[in-house]
Amino acid sequence: MHIAILGAGAMGSLFGGLLAEAGHRVTLLDVDGAHLNAINETGLRLTTDAGERTVANLEALRPEAAMQPADLLIVFTKTLHTQAALGAARAVLGSHTALLSLQNGLGNAERLGQFADPARVMIGVTTWPADKNGPGRVSSHGAGTIRLMNADGAATPMLSRTVEALNDAGLACTADADVWAAIWEKVAFNAALNSLCAVTGCTVGELTNVADGESLALKIVAEVAAVARAHGVAVDEAHVSENVRYALAHHRAHRPSMLQDVLAGRRTEIEAINGAVVEAARFKAIAVPHTQTLLQLVRLVDAKDSR
Ligand code: NAD
Repeated sequence: MHIAILGAGAMGSLFGGLLAEAGHRVTLLDVDGAHLNAINETGLRLTTDAGERTVANLEALRPEAAMQPADLLIVFTKTLHTQAALGAARAVLGSHTALLSLQNGLGNAERLGQFADPARVMIGVTTWPADKNGPGRVSSHGAGTIRLMNADGAATPMLSRTVEALNDAGLACTADADVWAAIWEKVAFNAALNSLCAVTGCTVGELTNVADGESLALKIVAEVAAVARAHGVAVDEAHVSENVRYALAHHRAHRPSMLQDVLAGRRTEIEAINGAVVEAARFKAIAVPHTQTLLQLVRLVDAKDSR
């Protein structure tokens, strides 16, 4: 397959590198000139549990410079850059091109559907982690999975080909018609821990330094779960709460991506996470006071004059 990756940061470069190693033709599309130059000059330096190596058979371009339609376009920008990126990459979107988002948050299928026939849009969720370690360098440690589906629920040939390609790359992918529950469960987890850490500057573990830190996080999980249920999505709230408790106890030093964005002076993905939950809650007249307050606070952090 010819696979284009739009947003070749930590996740996009990891997926692109592994898909290229599996023999697919991969084009990385990004706006980070230093990263593109490093990949074009010396290849992508990829470090996983399988070791450190260079992936050389990658093309790396700015989105507007890509001229050939791809069979599959995987979007891995942060959610706030999806539309600008797709707008610049229109030449990659042929009449047959399928689109896939494994980005965090809600609204990804709708954003992709603005640029292609919604019948060709796939969405999902991944637990693979990745970090960018400088221009041309990414790493990922531990194991992950991918669950995805066609956004309209159809079992298309392209869905099977995409699952196969991601499995060729060792990414442990399954087609799963129940992916909405997994997406909302990840949103519930992130709405709690990402926003609390982004506002306070606390690592995940530091949220337990006051007695009611854990209960505050769990209240946000409960609010998001209530909104999901009102929209007909059967989330497992107990499972998410257990994951939050586990992270508070065992991932104490972790800085969630939203806190990393704040510390680096970048805007966060708050609109696609707490913002989308508040919007979905309003639609069903459900009160989500903690999720909403965190949204307002992270918006203030994002809008600071000093950034
Ligand atoms: P990242 O910041 O490392 O990468 C995003 C890339 O998009 C950057 O290289 C940036 O230059 C590029 N970009 C920005 N604007 C662009 C544009 N207009 N056109 C093309 N490229 C553009 O982010 P990431 O950590 O790889 O995360 C990507 C998505 O995956 C997010 O939604 C995130 O929440 C989700 N996610 C991340 C992880 C993780 O461990 N990193 C895990 C699961 C899901």
